[in-house]
Amino acid sequence: MQIERVTIHQYEIPLEEPFVTALKPIPELERVLVEVETDDGIVGLGEGAPAYEVTGETQGSTAAVLQDVLAPLVLESNPIAIERLVSEMQALVDGSPAAHAAIEIALQDIRGKHAGMPVYKLLGGDAESPFLDAPKVLSIKAPDEMAADAEAAVEEGYNQIKIKVGGDPRTDIERVLTIDERVPDDMSLKADANQGWTDAKTAVSALSGMADRLDVIEQPVAKENVDDLVALRDRVDIPVMPDESVETASDALDLIKRGAGDIFNIKLMKTGGITEAIRLNAVAEADTRPVQIGSMVEGHVGTAAGVHFAAAFENVVWNEMVGPFMTTSGITNLRTDLPRIHADGPGLGVDLDRDRLADLRSNREVIE
Ligand SMILES: [Mg+2]
Repeated sequence: MQIERVTIHQYEIPLEEPFVTALKPIPELERVLVEVETDDGIVGLGEGAPAYEVTGETQGSTAAVLQDVLAPLVLESNPIAIERLVSEMQALVDGSPAAHAAIEIALQDIRGKHAGMPVYKLLGGDAESPFLDAPKVLSIKAPDEMAADAEAAVEEGYNQIKIKVGGDPRTDIERVLTIDERVPDDMSLKADANQGWTDAKTAVSALSGMADRLDVIEQPVAKENVDDLVALRDRVDIPVMPDESVETASDALDLIKRGAGDIFNIKLMKTGGITEAIRLNAVAEADTRPVQIGSMVEGHVGTAAGVHFAAAFENVVWNEMVGPFMTTSGITNLRTDLPRIHADGPGLGVDLDRDRLADLRSNREVIE
């Protein structure tokens, strides 16, 4: 079996409402979908969800790296040899993890379809009908508005809420406390500062007023600021979860050596796909740290890949595969039942709605 064609689609997914973090507001999702076709008729689907504020990539740069370098590289290769192809891609293109992820996820889909098995089972997962329950992620707004959004999320059926913070510490405390007052006591609350607090001192002052209401604080300070991540671990009574600070397995190893982070946020769009995510998870697990599978608010294909990864590994304790519930429509038959997302097979278990993709598409390139 060999790869004979790679089709690269650039498309835009409308959001239910703009998504606002401490980094930037996002009005719609600019995404790249790849179809990797083999000479025996299997089509693997992959997605690149670039986030320039995290990895420096845009939709255009992701499509260009795929078109100019990665797609030509994998043509005529055996798609089952994923380890070798990932090594070749990593040797040739430094960075651009969303572009790597698009190809790598498609290779995983091909392998599953070829074997007639769901990806999560090929990776070692054993559940018969696995699923994830996604949290509701609340954009940063005024505390009262966020509390109203939290109440709406409870009504919708969510049982976990992630609160975007990272502004003025006093307002952030008010955000968390106001939300906490207006949701049921058993609601799981997490907060993500997206690097928004200036330093450990600012983070400590914010967390002193909210830590006992939260399960975790995610990326409290700038990603390069590992010393403050280390300092925080001793000074606050709440797990600290690096996100922007940990892209690859070697980042995780470095953070562990320096004593930073209690739980790591893996994203397939930072690791460049499932292969490197498996390595990152193994590094974390070797030092008894659990991981979360997070997202860059992927569309259906990237989301499905995340659900399969989570279903395969016991060390993945939380997820944030929120994409399907933040967008007005998907481009596949991914099965969702808010807040639940189901994983199936063979492969990723999702089929493309070509008419819907054509409606949302801004560009298409075929490499063969
Ligand atoms: Mg985050």
